[in-house]
Amino acid sequence: MRRYLQADHRAAAANARQTPGTWIMAALYDASMTARTVARMARNGTIGAYRPQGSFDAYEAMHDGGSAVWIRYVTGLDVVPMPDTVTVRVPDYGTQPGYEGVCIRTVDISSRCRRCGAPRGPIRAHTFVKDGSRLVCDAWENECGHQDLYRMVLAEARVLAERTRPRPAKSPKKPLIRGVEGGRYAATVDRIAELIREKPSLRALRVLPHIEAHGHMDAAQVIRHFVSDSATGCHTSARAAALHLIELDEEARRAAQAEQSEWQDGPIGCGLDATTTGDNQ
Ligand SMILES: [Zn+2]
Repeated sequence: MRRYLQADHRAAAANARQTPGTWIMAALYDASMTARTVARMARNGTIGAYRPQGSFDAYEAMHDGGSAVWIRYVTGLDVVPMPDTVTVRVPDYGTQPGYEGVCIRTVDISSRCRRCGAPRGPIRAHTFVKDGSRLVCDAWENECGHQDLYRMVLAEARVLAERTRPRPAKSPKKPLIRGVEGGRYAATVDRIAELIREKPSLRALRVLPHIEAHGHMDAAQVIRHFVSDSATGCHTSARAAALHLIELDEEARRAAQAEQSEWQDGPIGCGLDATTTGDNQ
């Protein structure tokens, strides 16, 4: 609440009134819940600077420094409400070493820049040629200057899809996370699943000491890369990291089945991972 009082909403509102319809960042908070509340209070005019009610539109979004509140002055404008997500076509080059194909995936991502929360740039079709085939994906430039990368967009879409996946009505619990049988990261995934059971909101970086203590060094390295590549950065959840490991194992299994060949990274399920998870279950 202290930071809320310090935010200069009067200045932000005055600024926004000068450029009607344009989103501007009004405040930055540590907690997303605070920012969400302030955005709501801006929309409904609870905060004096944004009166009368309905003259401002506002949303909360992830920012490198916490959670940002973005506002726009809408009085007299026929503005289209900003959707939380947009659907885009993205080239996916896969993550298997040596794989050179590409497919176009249609995915949902946030309508806002993952670094600062500003609206993402307008989306346009982009045609390119790969191995003689003409393919169409989407491209955009963000006005805030933060550039999106397709692989990070795919990572963001995976997290969003996981978060918004409909749950079975009868079971309020999230689908069980379990390692891929025989997979290189199976034991690590099972270990992370145990940790998540205790604390569902656990972040990926928090599991590193646990899994390193159990000798899962290469998995820890994979998670580090995943977090640093991920659009959600240090906010990336342990659950997303576990799903990423499952995906790698499944991808490897598919590749092995397709090519009838050995895994490129070593024998399946051997090494420390398979033998050092003897915790009490
Ligand atoms: Zn940005």
